[in-house]
Amino acid sequence: MERARRRWWAELAWLGGAREVVDERVLISTERDRVVAVEPGSDPPPDARRLRGLLLPGLANTHSHAFHRALRSRTQAGAGDFWSWRERMYALAGRIDPDAYLALARATYAEMALAGVAAVGEFHYLHHPPGGGRYADPNAMGSALLQAAAEAGVRITLLDTCYLQADADGTPLEGVQRRFGDGDAAAWAERVERLAPAAATADGALLGAAVHSVRAVPPGAMAAVAAWAARRGAPLHLHLSEQRRENQACLAATGRTPARLAADCGVLGERTTVVHATHPGGGDVELLGASGTTACLCPTTERDLADGIGPARRLAEAGCPLALGSDSHAVVDLFEEARAVELDERLASGRRGHHRSVDLLRAATGGGMRSLGWDAGAIEPGRLADLVSLRLDSPRLAGAPREDLLAAVVFAATAADVADLVVGGRQVVADGQHLLVEDVSAALAQAISPLSDPG
Ligand SMILES: [Zn+2]
Repeated sequence: MERARRRWWAELAWLGGAREVVDERVLISTERDRVVAVEPGSDPPPDARRLRGLLLPGLANTHSHAFHRALRSRTQAGAGDFWSWRERMYALAGRIDPDAYLALARATYAEMALAGVAAVGEFHYLHHPPGGGRYADPNAMGSALLQAAAEAGVRITLLDTCYLQADADGTPLEGVQRRFGDGDAAAWAERVERLAPAAATADGALLGAAVHSVRAVPPGAMAAVAAWAARRGAPLHLHLSEQRRENQACLAATGRTPARLAADCGVLGERTTVVHATHPGGGDVELLGASGTTACLCPTTERDLADGIGPARRLAEAGCPLALGSDSHAVVDLFEEARAVELDERLASGRRGHHRSVDLLRAATGGGMRSLGWDAGAIEPGRLADLVSLRLDSPRLAGAPREDLLAAVVFAATAADVADLVVGGRQVVADGQHLLVEDVSAALAQAISPLSDPG
């Protein structure tokens, strides 16, 4: 990869991290994949690449299931709830092999790059052939995801997911769910260990762990996955309290809320991210906050699936860093996720102003990067050189007030406003064009069409 010393210049930049304001005329020097200097108030030197509009740290899409991209526009209309949607998702899951997965994930990650995403957290549980058994390479599906991200120019944290049972009462996996299961936590760890060398040598890849949910992993196995992640210092994610039914099933099976059970199994902590946290039970918000666990909200998916509105403000106040994910990819737009966190809480509470714009952008950048184990999310010397620029002359942002550009970005920008993306010092998107995947729309259409639901 071409990663020499480079200089980049932007008229306006929010540098992320602790910065509260937009800096002007910012010169950024990078060497290989890192930022080495940041100099606001600089004239653009002739050798610097100009990035148009407003520069931000590259975005983190903290929660993704790449294969769900093939459900877009097929499951949004009509009636039902999360559980009826899941049946459609399972039907798709039964049709994907490693080659189809590579094509679909590569196109999906390329769509993310066009939306300004520098790193994705892929919550990966589609491990084995339909009906069970093993591929010749038992990590054929995970390897396809690593390759897809590399080809799309996006960094990936592959959150290899343990998924062992159909419900908290120990109901065995059946039907397409058998693709997800390794049998037990030891077999899960053995398979993941075989993936570790490939992930370690891949450029821009990191291996993490996930517990699918308290429904899908019994307490002893949750503790084993948590211990594996702790030994490796790896990120650990789990779906938590997305549905009230999960809380009820967990209480019935264990006498504890999902968060309490996760805490007792050693799952919570500063390396851990809970996804959704839409329906935390009594005391759960305080438990999550005190442990420093990140809460990853996925509001465009949560609203699509009629999940509910999570208590983002209370979670943040309790001490949970926030992160954002497009999850089912009903849309891939981190600006939409960011504003939905605030706007959904307005609808639920009848009050405005739960989150500051700068904090929502932190969730989309530094909060997510930290959750995924990357030293990124702020444009600072020493950190990974991830830069995204937004056109300020788009119809959405034209006329935005200079003194409150961050609010304009949160409340009006869309993924379509992304002009340039630099990931680890390498330009991946220039002027709205992906430089590695020639025609992202065609790649998506070609990958999705053979997977379409025949019924
Ligand atoms: Zn998910």
